[in-house]
Amino acid sequence: MRDEEVGGAMTTGNGSAASHQNAALEAAVGRLWAEIEARRDEIVETVADLVRFPSLLGEEAAVQGYVGAHLRASGLATEVRDMDDGLKALPNAGESGVPFAVRPNVAGTLTGAGGGQSLILNGHVDVVSAEPVSAWTRDPWGASVEGDRMYGRGAYDMKSGVALNLLLPRMIRDLGIVLRGDLLVHSVIEEECTGNGTLDLSLRQRADAALVTEPMGGAFAVAHVGVLWFRVAVDGVAWHAMQAYRGVNAILKAMPILRALEELDRELNEAPPHPSFAGIEHPINLNVGVIHGGDWPSTVAGSCELHCRLAFYPGQSVAEVRARIEAAIGAAADADPWLREHRPRVTYDGFQTEGSTVPPEEPAVRLLGAWHERVTGEVMAPAVGTGVNDMRYYRFLGTPAGCYGANGGNGHAADEWLDLASLVPTAKAIGAFALEWCGVAR
Ligand SMILES: [Zn+2]
Repeated sequence: MRDEEVGGAMTTGNGSAASHQNAALEAAVGRLWAEIEARRDEIVETVADLVRFPSLLGEEAAVQGYVGAHLRASGLATEVRDMDDGLKALPNAGESGVPFAVRPNVAGTLTGAGGGQSLILNGHVDVVSAEPVSAWTRDPWGASVEGDRMYGRGAYDMKSGVALNLLLPRMIRDLGIVLRGDLLVHSVIEEECTGNGTLDLSLRQRADAALVTEPMGGAFAVAHVGVLWFRVAVDGVAWHAMQAYRGVNAILKAMPILRALEELDRELNEAPPHPSFAGIEHPINLNVGVIHGGDWPSTVAGSCELHCRLAFYPGQSVAEVRARIEAAIGAAADADPWLREHRPRVTYDGFQTEGSTVPPEEPAVRLLGAWHERVTGEVMAPAVGTGVNDMRYYRFLGTPAGCYGANGGNGHAADEWLDLASLVPTAKAIGAFALEWCGVAR
């Protein structure tokens, strides 16, 4: 039976009313779990449908069309709308470089009978590139199933979660279960580069709790870092390589900056960590992900640009981290005669967002944990993210929110795969949590 310490609707109230509610909840959970087991193939097929859309940055429209149609067919009040450019001026927004037009966010509401708590199930449809495709041993967009694994870009991160977000409201509706609180679905774009999608929907539709169904392998994200993308442009002087000494090679002039960034990474990791990150190996990662320099082997490189990503702890601001980066690069420039006179330029694109945490004692977190334990027989482990995720936008508004979802591997890598055996238990835990959190009216 239930953990008596769990908060939520069933532990409030008293006497026969409470036990009557408890019986209604138990009956609804039992029916939903049976439905999830009976419709396992439909869950798998829905993930496969989603994976077959190559929903890279800028190419999300088709998959969002599928999501919108699915939500409408389930009877949810559904909104499909492009974001406004004004969003980019808000704190914690980012710039992806791709216009918002014809790349909608999708939101659906399964309206409750009233008197319960509302819940958002959030998922992102955008996926990172499958490059280098030559490293894959399967078609990245094929959703091929081998045993208990489905392979494909996004099968794990996170079309697994989007499929659950679509099918749980549908199953609840099909069973004729009426919730008290509203159950909302947020299907967003740009999770992988800015977070703008969830920023937008978090401001349009609020709820009493939000769950991002990222593939956490049964763990629960209680904290994650902030992330900032930046570029460093270095000027040189192009010249014929037969007299290379008469030019200034911008690639070589980027080297002291690269060393300064390596040093900054070391310093940031030597500083005392945020309490949530104590014991995490190398929590703060500064990655130089792209370098563009020069354009011809027999020409001295006249320009060079670095594209970088830096993490920082929850509680630190974007402004203070930008200042730290600029100080490190400025010091490197001061020590070089050329760079002193030709200052490297730091600009910002992509993620510009703070991190977030959620207290494990939040009633919503404890309630999900109790259902996880009942489904799996194991304690729901807290997870700390050294990458960013969309839970933060709900947290910035004070809404309890975290990530919980299916299992798998090779996210952002070749041969990404989803553990199909994890879908049913994950759906059961989230489904039961939703029923109890929102309340069952009938
Ligand atoms: Zn993800």
